[in-house]
Amino acid sequence: MAPAADVVVVGAGLAGLAAATRLVDAGAEVVVLEARDRVGGRTLTLPAADGTPIDHGGQWVGPTHDRIATLAERVGVTTYPTWERGLNTVVRDGQAHRYEGDPLDEGDPMSAVALGQAIRELDAMAATVPPEAPWTAADALSWDSQTVETWLQARVESERVRNWLREIVRGTLAAEARELSLLHTLFVIRSAGSMAMLLATAGGAQERRFHQGAQAISIRLAEPLGERVVLGTPAQLVRHGEAGVVVEAGDRTVTAGRAILAVPPAIAGRIGYQPAMPGWRSQLTQRVPMGSVVKIHAIYEEPFWRQEGLSGFAVSDSGPVAVVYDNCPEGGSPGVLVGFIEGDQARAWARRGDGDRRAAILASLVGFFGERAARPRELLERSWADEEYSGGCYAGYFPPGVWTSYGQALREPVGRLHWAGTETATAWNSYMEGAVQSGERAADEVLAAG
Ligand SMILES: Cc1cc2nc3c(=O)[nH]c(=O)nc-3n(C[C@H](O)[C@H](O)[C@H](O)COP(=O)(O)OP(=O)(O)OC[C@H]3O[C@@H](n4cnc5c(N)ncnc54)[C@H](O)[C@@H]3O)c2cc1C
Repeated sequence: MAPAADVVVVGAGLAGLAAATRLVDAGAEVVVLEARDRVGGRTLTLPAADGTPIDHGGQWVGPTHDRIATLAERVGVTTYPTWERGLNTVVRDGQAHRYEGDPLDEGDPMSAVALGQAIRELDAMAATVPPEAPWTAADALSWDSQTVETWLQARVESERVRNWLREIVRGTLAAEARELSLLHTLFVIRSAGSMAMLLATAGGAQERRFHQGAQAISIRLAEPLGERVVLGTPAQLVRHGEAGVVVEAGDRTVTAGRAILAVPPAIAGRIGYQPAMPGWRSQLTQRVPMGSVVKIHAIYEEPFWRQEGLSGFAVSDSGPVAVVYDNCPEGGSPGVLVGFIEGDQARAWARRGDGDRRAAILASLVGFFGERAARPRELLERSWADEEYSGGCYAGYFPPGVWTSYGQALREPVGRLHWAGTETATAWNSYMEGAVQSGERAADEVLAAG
């Protein structure tokens, strides 16, 4: 049996590592159990054939992502601005159009105005949602009794504008408007500050990238933790009681005073507990599914779109690739495009043969940028729903009825068990910043409990 620790942390993603770092800083004895043979969880940076770091998971940070910025600075991971010079591209009904400035204004000012109004309405509703307790919003019951789709049907007249909003919501939460509680969507907007914060590149969530890749933060946080981080060791059973916690993970058993489970709710629900979780906690973890996304990268000798005056940012109403950004390293070489297949399209295309899917991805890229896009020197894909220890991405989302019936169970400790992970964050929920906030909050909870 391993030596007793003060705290055992389950999960070495950003949340678990932020928690462990804070606890060790405070002088606590910590063991971190990680199921995968790597740290970083939903951040994963792998070298392309030429060594360029490619982020297959989380990558962008922006203003007010202060906690992850502080951690990155601590471990010497640096950022650069996302490229956005040039014309943007929108593919509608199979036709590529180029436009400048606001991606919402594509030569259809009436729709742009209607979209602006809908966004302002969502922002105003979101401003009334307390991020610590969304279920206490004055209209919580009504908003949690409908999906985003229900709201769109009731409040937005134009089908074109509804489609835009469906794309925006799908792009942000990797789920369909018909799957998402309106209250949850408003909560995510509130936790980020506004729709503009979620959607913008400069001044918003897509503003900057890490030179070394996002996973470098976790790798470098784990280094000083040394042997406290145990890889390839999935927690299977958590025994807990007044005397402490015993976590069984394969042939390893860790005893500790308290545990922080830094995994998404759906993944926490797969772990065994003795005694079993109370119904209110068990039923929460049955109700927070993960989003669906396939992230792709196409790597070219050079960013040919820049030479053609294009920014590399593109959106499509047909897919399978719904949105694309220029994802080159800061120096601009090689040329890298990143794209996302989300929601229904991710589910459908992940099940198709590799050949079919890759051909469809290339067809999407050609639709955006012309024939030169057809021949990347590398085409990389990652379907996060296939990852055993993530179950999907970007994050867990709340369908209707869950916040109002189970919201209080999200962060409430069960005896000596504490909950972290970006899904439990009140700021930038679903983002890396939220993961760090959640880990630091759980560490503070444990330290305060003594
Ligand atoms: C494709 C994609 C793009 C994204 N883009 C962005 C972005 O641009 N910006 C942004 O801010 N965020 C983005 N995100 C979201 C961001 O990556 C996540 O919010 C964040 O990394 C979550 O961190 P976490 O620590 O909460 O959870 P995780 O990273 O999921 O960490 C949980 C850890 O627990 C481990 N684990 C699971 N089960 C067990 C077990 N039984 N025992 C032990 N360990 C276990 C897992 O292996 C994992 O390492 C993106 C995510 C994806 C996948």
